[in-house]
Amino acid sequence: MAKNIDWESLGFDYTALDYRYVARWKDGQWGKGELITDPTVHISECAGVLQYGQAAFEGLKAYTTKDGRIVTFRPDLNAERMIDSANRLVMPPVSKEMFIEAVDAVVKANKEYVPPYGTGATLYIRPYIYGCGPVIGVAPAPEYEFRMIAMPVGRYFKAGVKPVAVKISDYDRAAPMGTGMIKASLNYAMSLYPGMKAHEEGYAENIYLDPKTRTKIEEAGGMNVIFITKDGTLVTPKSNSILPSVTRRSLEVVARDILGMKVEHREVTLEEVPQFEECGLCGTAAVIAPVGKINNHGEEICFPCGMEKAGPVLQKLYDTLTGIQMGTVEAPEGWIHEIEC
Ligand SMILES: *Cc1c(COP(=O)(O)O)cnc(C)c1O
Repeated sequence: MAKNIDWESLGFDYTALDYRYVARWKDGQWGKGELITDPTVHISECAGVLQYGQAAFEGLKAYTTKDGRIVTFRPDLNAERMIDSANRLVMPPVSKEMFIEAVDAVVKANKEYVPPYGTGATLYIRPYIYGCGPVIGVAPAPEYEFRMIAMPVGRYFKAGVKPVAVKISDYDRAAPMGTGMIKASLNYAMSLYPGMKAHEEGYAENIYLDPKTRTKIEEAGGMNVIFITKDGTLVTPKSNSILPSVTRRSLEVVARDILGMKVEHREVTLEEVPQFEECGLCGTAAVIAPVGKINNHGEEICFPCGMEKAGPVLQKLYDTLTGIQMGTVEAPEGWIHEIEC
């Protein structure tokens, strides 16, 4: 039975649920993970995460389908991505099996908090891994923790699916051979300052350019950027410093295989942006946030949808993907992972 929560008015905020998962890596191996009730972490004052920022995370959701099942969406891709993140930051990767077992355990233990179908709310799941053992000489930590918490959330942007205004940032998100392609916590620490500045100026997000030439679209602080051309092609920017969004990769398949659209994954220059018909930001938290306008150093790029509602193609992509997640549209093979509760 779901808890008595006002699901419709949930924001995107932390709440401590009854159970969380923790596993510890010590002496060269991962111990058996367990569910615990303590919402506080106890680690060395000299932990690798505290001294040198050795941490990475993931984000996925559990949904209640129309017929009452509890499912997650492509958790194998989150597991694979966390392996890549761990390897790049010299942390011991968690196996795909262990990752998915932890997701199942956390959702099952907190199942009263999985929002009912039709409320627009979901259970957000946050896996994370960090160096908890002490280091003072610069080196990878000697011990690690893999944790997973969950919390019910509503829409990411307060305006719902209303278009947002964003700005082209003069700051860089990730260096060409840096950590842009992994979900490193450090990528977020450095985007807080430009993010705060953008919010103060009334923008929902920054769009970063490629740091080498400053002519190509990379992505937003926590979301990939997608475009629709005038003849209905989905165009997604390609760069090895963009985080490979599960949502973006799924939308490419939905567009091509379900909606019969043309899809191009290629470099996108800032110069060609005004020619696109629609623009959006995508990620697990918001699914798709349509972009109504982009401020490029005082010059406004306005998309035909305006600031009241999403353009028709992004709306269709949004409806189809969320339909797959909520079980009202048939999912491609292997996309839906059911959790027996
Ligand atoms: C997590 C994240 C995204 C979105 O990825 P999803 O897998 O779709 O949630 C996009 N960009 C960055 C930088 C991210 O960290």
